[in-house]
Amino acid sequence: MSAPITQDVLTLPRKLPEGGLTNIVGLTRDQLQAALIAAGTPARQARMRVGQVWQWVYHWGVRDFAQMTNLAKDYRALLARHFEIALPEVVTRQVSADGTRKYLLRIAGGHEVETVYIPEEGRGTLCVSSQVGCTLTCSFCHTGTQKLVRNLTPGEIVGQLMVARDDLGEWPQPGAPKDETRLVSNLVLMGMGEPLYNFEGVRDAMKVVMDGEGLSLSRRRITLSTSGVVPEIARTAEEIGCLLAVSFHATTDDVRDRLVPINRRWNIKTLLDALRDYPRLSNSERITFEYVMLDGVNDSDADARRLVQLIRGIPAKINLIPFNEWPGAPYQRSSRERIEAFADIIYKAGYASPIRTPRGEDIMAACGQLKSATERGRKSKAEIAADSRLQTH
Ligand code: SF4
Repeated sequence: MSAPITQDVLTLPRKLPEGGLTNIVGLTRDQLQAALIAAGTPARQARMRVGQVWQWVYHWGVRDFAQMTNLAKDYRALLARHFEIALPEVVTRQVSADGTRKYLLRIAGGHEVETVYIPEEGRGTLCVSSQVGCTLTCSFCHTGTQKLVRNLTPGEIVGQLMVARDDLGEWPQPGAPKDETRLVSNLVLMGMGEPLYNFEGVRDAMKVVMDGEGLSLSRRRITLSTSGVVPEIARTAEEIGCLLAVSFHATTDDVRDRLVPINRRWNIKTLLDALRDYPRLSNSERITFEYVMLDGVNDSDADARRLVQLIRGIPAKINLIPFNEWPGAPYQRSSRERIEAFADIIYKAGYASPIRTPRGEDIMAACGQLKSATERGRKSKAEIAADSRLQTH
């Protein structure tokens, strides 16, 4: 594609967390309080210190204890001896012609994950990863071709948002008038990994992200997307309270077994029963059904009608996603006419059915693609051959 792309290989002076220092990023308030006390903060001051440090780190985006000017010099020195404020390292940053930004980030252990920023009219959405790779092998998904390495820590999840705010220059300036328009106004857990297989990590990260004295994203601006880990669905409402999206993608168990293999464990009926019981369900907090449009696989009129029948009674919106093809993908995108006909049936049944505009295609913004492309550049021919076998499973 000929659209202009910029790609920087950044060598920012950010460090990965090192042994000995505790990284503050990603600690909940309670954890931070305990850590400050363990480092020598008098217990009776600890709550106040948490509030002060929290504001510096998450409201002002400060990375250097020396800049925390409402703390005594000695106390700043104590913090510097025990703590660090470390973010994932930016390996590459690509900016699409449509403004989409894609970051490949390196985390502890040298692993790499992706984060994508999607600017839209009046808002901006950051898509963050929750795992390195994924155990689930959804056959349309590029990340599904990468082995699970590990869960991300809360700090690595929160760090993705902070890296994006750094890059977008979104930290407030002291004394400047309050700006209510936020570049990163929404966060979606739709990047690499199944967030509900990293429940505690995601929950603690979201506690930090939602805290009103810091990054301050409201729970209604956070959407967690699951492929259907049924036992964790109710807990998501209770312990995180965010909105829910489901990678649905098919209207029969036969097809969903192939596209989203977790369906063999929790089939469509079990999943829909759990969604009907989702504690926060209401018309203002609808569940989003993600539905990737695959030519000749799941895109018929009969599929659209079945979908409407299946979700009857669930306050829902259906996001239709034109498939973002990747090299070696076993599927093709449905035609525009097919997607529109499908959308029309759903719309006439009373559901919002937006067709998502493909974003960042020139920078391979579909989940997992950048990591794979970068790795391919480093791999032997034999490894590449093995990869392409995987991609057509
Ligand atoms: S769609 Fe999500 S759950 Fe499925 S393989 Fe990809 S990253 Fe994993």
